[in-house]
Amino acid sequence: MTICFTTPAILLRRVDFGDNDLILTFFSLTRGKISLIAKSARKSRKRFCGALDLFSAYELVCLTGQGRLPVLLESTIQHPFCQIRSDFKKTAYASYFVEIINNWMEQDVAQPRTFDLLYQVLDRLDRNDLPDDLLSIVFQMTLMIISGFSPNFSTCCQCHTEMDCLNGCRIGINFAKGGLICSSCSSAVSPMVYLSRGTIKQLQWMGCGNWNKIARARFSAQSIQESLGFLEAFVPYHLGKEPKSLSVLRQFRAEQGMG
Ligand SMILES: [Zn+2]
Repeated sequence: MTICFTTPAILLRRVDFGDNDLILTFFSLTRGKISLIAKSARKSRKRFCGALDLFSAYELVCLTGQGRLPVLLESTIQHPFCQIRSDFKKTAYASYFVEIINNWMEQDVAQPRTFDLLYQVLDRLDRNDLPDDLLSIVFQMTLMIISGFSPNFSTCCQCHTEMDCLNGCRIGINFAKGGLICSSCSSAVSPMVYLSRGTIKQLQWMGCGNWNKIARARFSAQSIQESLGFLEAFVPYHLGKEPKSLSVLRQFRAEQGMG
């Protein structure tokens, strides 16, 4: 039995298949991560209205049940994110976001909150609504919360002492334990990074989903750097691998003299 379905979707990955076809991986609103075959997509660019570009948003019409993979019948572009594409750093961030989603999400499991997060962050990156680095922090923190990997920033993971009772202005974090390690416990469980108290307090609410609150807040450059450094180690740790796009982003920052 064949079933036809339509869904909004963001393109995560495209791979050539045979002489004429493409295998496309989308993150869709109604079915989560899906892989589709786009027949003759390389032979005729008109077949799917020209470009099938990474991290663009589409409305898809698909057909299941005719073979191993569902077939893409039609794709209508909803948002091409042109401003992202005209800016190297924004492109690097968007590539990082879709690579994380492609590696993190299970096939065929709808994740509407995560879809909304990815769409919102790409849209704001495109509109220049918030600084690029801040959007990356919000994306990664929110994804960790939705996925149940939210770092424990409230108590020491070993002895459960409250964060406010911990000594020192920089507090250790252990990734395997999933959060704070106080100085008394650091001989038993060694911290992998240290964050300042202020950064931890800000990270605690960065994944709150309240865009107005995030837009009104003031973040120091040091806090942004610390948060990025932490999340770009914490997220790959839980992903089990280092996204390729992260090295592109790091190389770009190094060339810009941003460390
Ligand atoms: Zn402790």
